[in-house]
Amino acid sequence: MENQEKLSPVMQQYLDFKRENPEALLLFRLGDFYEVFFDDAIIVSRALDLVLTKRGNEIPMCGVPFHAADNYIARLVKQGFHVAIAEQMETPDEARARGAKQLRRDIVRVLTPGTIVDDHLLAGSQSNFLVAVIKSKFGWSLAGSELSTGDFFISDVRGSIIDTIMRIKPAEILADESVAEDVDIRAIKSMIPVTFVHERLFQKSNMDENLGRVFGVHQNFNRMNESQKLTVGLLAHYLIQTQRGSFVPFKSFRILGDGSRLQIDASTWKSLEIDESMSGKSGVTLLDVIDNTVTAAGARCLRSMLRELLGDVEIIADRQDRIENLVKKTGVLRDWRALLKKMPDIERALSRLLSERGSPRDLLSISHALQMMPGVRAMANELDEKTLDEVKSLALHEALSFELVRALEDDLPAFFREGGVIREGFHAGLDQLRDLAANSKKIIAGLQNEYVSKSGANLLKIKYNNLLGYFIEVPPKQAESMLGIESEFIHKQTLVGGVRFTTVRLAELDSEIRSAAEKAVAVEKEIVRELIEKIRGAAEDLRKIAEVLARIDVYAALAEVAIINNWVRPNVVNEKVFNIIGGRHPVVEHVLSNNHSQFVANDCVFENGKTVWLMTGPNMAGKSTYLRQNAIIVVLAHLGSFVPARSAQIGIVDQLFSRVGASDNLAQGQSTFMVEMIETANILNRATDRSFVILDEIGRGTSTWDGLSMAWAVLEYLNQLGCLTLFATHYHELVALRDTLSKLACMTIEIKEQDNEIIFMHRVISGVANRSYGIHVASMAGVPKPVILRAEAVLKQLESDQKVGKDLRTLTLFDAPSLVVDKKDVKNDAVLEKLRGLDLNSMTPMQALEFLDKLKKDVKMGD
Ligand code: ATP
Repeated sequence: MENQEKLSPVMQQYLDFKRENPEALLLFRLGDFYEVFFDDAIIVSRALDLVLTKRGNEIPMCGVPFHAADNYIARLVKQGFHVAIAEQMETPDEARARGAKQLRRDIVRVLTPGTIVDDHLLAGSQSNFLVAVIKSKFGWSLAGSELSTGDFFISDVRGSIIDTIMRIKPAEILADESVAEDVDIRAIKSMIPVTFVHERLFQKSNMDENLGRVFGVHQNFNRMNESQKLTVGLLAHYLIQTQRGSFVPFKSFRILGDGSRLQIDASTWKSLEIDESMSGKSGVTLLDVIDNTVTAAGARCLRSMLRELLGDVEIIADRQDRIENLVKKTGVLRDWRALLKKMPDIERALSRLLSERGSPRDLLSISHALQMMPGVRAMANELDEKTLDEVKSLALHEALSFELVRALEDDLPAFFREGGVIREGFHAGLDQLRDLAANSKKIIAGLQNEYVSKSGANLLKIKYNNLLGYFIEVPPKQAESMLGIESEFIHKQTLVGGVRFTTVRLAELDSEIRSAAEKAVAVEKEIVRELIEKIRGAAEDLRKIAEVLARIDVYAALAEVAIINNWVRPNVVNEKVFNIIGGRHPVVEHVLSNNHSQFVANDCVFENGKTVWLMTGPNMAGKSTYLRQNAIIVVLAHLGSFVPARSAQIGIVDQLFSRVGASDNLAQGQSTFMVEMIETANILNRATDRSFVILDEIGRGTSTWDGLSMAWAVLEYLNQLGCLTLFATHYHELVALRDTLSKLACMTIEIKEQDNEIIFMHRVISGVANRSYGIHVASMAGVPKPVILRAEAVLKQLESDQKVGKDLRTLTLFDAPSLVVDKKDVKNDAVLEKLRGLDLNSMTPMQALEFLDKLKKDVKMGD
């Protein structure tokens, strides 16, 4: 690269683009290929397994054919690369006409993980968010957008930014360079690609202009506070940079309130396996059970509702009403689901078309969707009143629908570039051009017969290829007669298998066909452009249709889930209550039913002021399952869904916390116990009396005594906080706390012992477990007999030595510090004692001085 002055103009152009986009791999259009040079070529050839060649003996180079580029670009973006596309902006003829030696090229787009809209790059049911974050006075400001659907949201995050990010799961994050070393950002960076942008690039005076371009001018930006505006400015700058000319302004933005929602932190979210399993196994998350949607837009909508769990009883009741209506009318539910199943993904097709990245199939999707709208309207009468009103208010755009039906072919090609999109009979000019081409083709077919008889070469054929166009081919043996001086056949090529000719007539026809075909494609392009403009005019209505139908899909899915699994509508209230009768764990129940086993339903009723349940019980009894099932019921209730129970009354919860199972974060240098304590600290620092907390086996990652002491103190603290708590443990010593903690109730899980076997009843009852049966479970797991026998002997010995319970029973949170003896206090006490015993009246000044001297020496010795 040092010898730039020696490089060809094309290479100079390449390097200029590369300088503008140092972060991206540059794909540079050269004829039918996208070429990559220099270091990028080495990276791309490795990433895509391409042959690395050299340009002019020196410059590393590789390339992908233009027709197949989508697939290669997709693979690069999936690997987290940014890809800049430099296109040819004119034909060689156009360049010649303006006297230029070199084609005009431009970067038309930079693809990054968070800015893609292309169908083959996106998972239908998952959103693809680009999120920008800025540190603010209150914590963080966050702005998120999804180009493929036109969604845009803004939020202030007071707690950990990690929690919010892990819930949104963006494909890419933008941050101001100054936070590159922030601990949270570094942690996020290990999971999601983060792109840093220097502040001067998005803070400048052109911010207002950028905002105007991203949203159109009529938005009320005063609704945003200063840091929100800055965050949106960062996002706007990046979108403009990456999308270049083809940018579709967002219609509006939502401000997500943090306050009135159920808050769930990242570790709770993960541990409850809401949308991702800890083991990476599929089919075991809550989402797997409840995602019964039949459209990709519905699936995305359900995910978005899960991310923004509600905190308002009225909004929850509203969702419940809509679901209940469908639960009660199973026929209507069935019909709606059948109808929605056929509904195309309007949002994404629309975004692609409007940003000039659409395909003929996207046009067809809009057409199909509009055609389905009268049917949608007709079926809406049986929906609940509010949904009915929403459907009634949707615009049908009948004229556009009719035009699209008339315009589009039934069988559409994958791309617009080759034509074949517009149906015969839609446009007279186009039909004429096509007739001309077709007619010439017919004449060519007739010409073949004529040439056979003229030449006597019975194997003569008229063929076509891209390079030569139409040509005549005969086997070499028959070519002789056609090579004469007087012959009308003009020799073109001699190959091993045949000799090729053309004629003046054939060349004329060839050019007629070509120019008619080229003109036809141009006319089609114009028709398509007009159709897209009409769709642009209807875009807002189309988005509304997509949104309303996606929500109906979610209600229908949740209704279906409720019916299939026998769930009930919970009574969600503002008071602090939790009253679950016959609750079940939706995922475990599912898994068990697949194995033809029955799940045992359990109640969970916090009453008589007992807000902390201490759950002891043998291994494998079902403690973790019980804890999680109640936390999941809280999640479902705040989603507005029915819940797996016989009946449920649930008070609005402000935060849900879960500390379940051991997980470590070795990648970030944290041990298992450290992670456990960080999560515990987070809960204790943030929980309020309106929070719901599940804690499973706190303290097991350290020595018994340290662990037990931590569990003990945590329980006392939770008792003080008054949050609803389910606390499972194998430290049976903790049961002693029921005598001192007023809000503590002891619960256990029933088992039966029969012929030296234990039977797990999985039933939660009031009481205390006296043993953990850990060795029994170990034996069930196949631990060798000698180890089991030895463990039993050791256990007996340990149990006979144990006096812990008795000693700890007297400990409370407030007198706990008195157990810790402070050495300084002992020393002070002794000094005071000596001073008190002093009779100053009977001492000479010298004696007093000696006393003081001694006292000082004593104090020094004790130091
Ligand atoms: P440990 O103390 O060893 O962690 P645990 O008491 O937390 O065990 P779980 O992990 O909750 O036990 O449950 C063990 C297994 O018992 C589950 O995988 C499930 O198969 C079964 N189980 C749990 N609860 C029930 C239930 N209510 N009905 C039926 N089976 C259940």
